[in-house]
Amino acid sequence: MGRGIRYVAAHEVGHTLGLPHNFASSNAVPVDSLRSPEWTSEHGTTPSIMDYARFNYVAQPGDGVEQFAPKIGAYDEWAIQWGYQAMPDLETQEERARRLDAMIQEKAGDPTYLYGRQSFRPQDPRSQSEDLGRNAVKAGSLGVANLKRIVPNLVEWTREEGSNYQELEEIYGEVVGQWRRYLGHAARHVGGMHETFKTYAQDGPVYDPVPAGRQRAAMEFVLENGFQTPSWLTDADVLRRFESSGALNRVREAQFGIMEAVLRPERLARMTEITAMNGRESTYTPTEMLVDLREGVWAELDGSEAIGPYRRNLQRGYLERMRELMTGNTVPDGIPEGLLERARSTPVDVSQSDIQALVRGELRALEGEVEQALRRAPNEMTERHLRDVLTRIGDILDGEEA
Ligand SMILES: [Zn+2]
Repeated sequence: MGRGIRYVAAHEVGHTLGLPHNFASSNAVPVDSLRSPEWTSEHGTTPSIMDYARFNYVAQPGDGVEQFAPKIGAYDEWAIQWGYQAMPDLETQEERARRLDAMIQEKAGDPTYLYGRQSFRPQDPRSQSEDLGRNAVKAGSLGVANLKRIVPNLVEWTREEGSNYQELEEIYGEVVGQWRRYLGHAARHVGGMHETFKTYAQDGPVYDPVPAGRQRAAMEFVLENGFQTPSWLTDADVLRRFESSGALNRVREAQFGIMEAVLRPERLARMTEITAMNGRESTYTPTEMLVDLREGVWAELDGSEAIGPYRRNLQRGYLERMRELMTGNTVPDGIPEGLLERARSTPVDVSQSDIQALVRGELRALEGEVEQALRRAPNEMTERHLRDVLTRIGDILDGEEA
């Protein structure tokens, strides 16, 4: 707790000295470094205390890591030097500006000194809140591994003689929140754009798509860790100590949140534009992404597998999001007026974009797969679910409210 308070105090003093959040900072760190006792003792979690990188969820039991909180780092010292150094040897404002520019040029391309601005809906997956390390899939996998260790120990670790289970409920909620965070960190790679601020002196684009391989790996991570039912999270021994019901809905809400994020019009529009500008060969195209998503969410249709209750919820969530995409509004939506600038989203006129053609194509393909699967539905509930799915698809394609 002392180290935690020390971190927050230093971070807030950073603000009083004029430093904004630098959400790209933690991206400079190779994931393996976060498991090194030597590296973490010296550097904490990130080169800047102005990131949100507040505890090391990557380190695994047995790694020997002892410093889990961030520390003041190389970026912070450099930024303070840039802002506050005395330059008594220089006479004019122009000379001082040149020296400051030289400081920037010297560090250009070095991720330790990269600045990534805070945004409401980050397009640059390097600039995210509460993420760690250079590879969100690798870091998130290690984070999930730790959560899986925590859940079976929650009752024991929150135990306090004479207390009720309020603490258990709160900490369990934090575990769920942390799981969602790892999924969000990965999901934002899909259709992501790197933003690397430059001046005329520096080569290359400021905006550059996330490499296609990274996007595909992120999608795979979401399908595996988010959309396959997280049975490790729905431990009856934990849940039945503080609630009579709620597990199904909690998982549904978390999964729908990620579904919404993956199927955001701005993301699909960006993916279409990246394909247009960079060509199909080097791009994770929106079509490819939607096929990956359909195959992951509807994996049971391939064989004659029963579809369980969590997966039925997920599949209805998918259809709900597809229905929303067919309404044809201009987005971003759901962002308060004053926050539009911070959302940094380019508006998309959904009905005049490729989005509805993409969605229609997916729903038609899905309809065919569901019809096939219905013939070999292994149980009554799966059959009823699939019939309901067909009705919903029909309603969406006919333009009726589901
Ligand atoms: Zn802050």
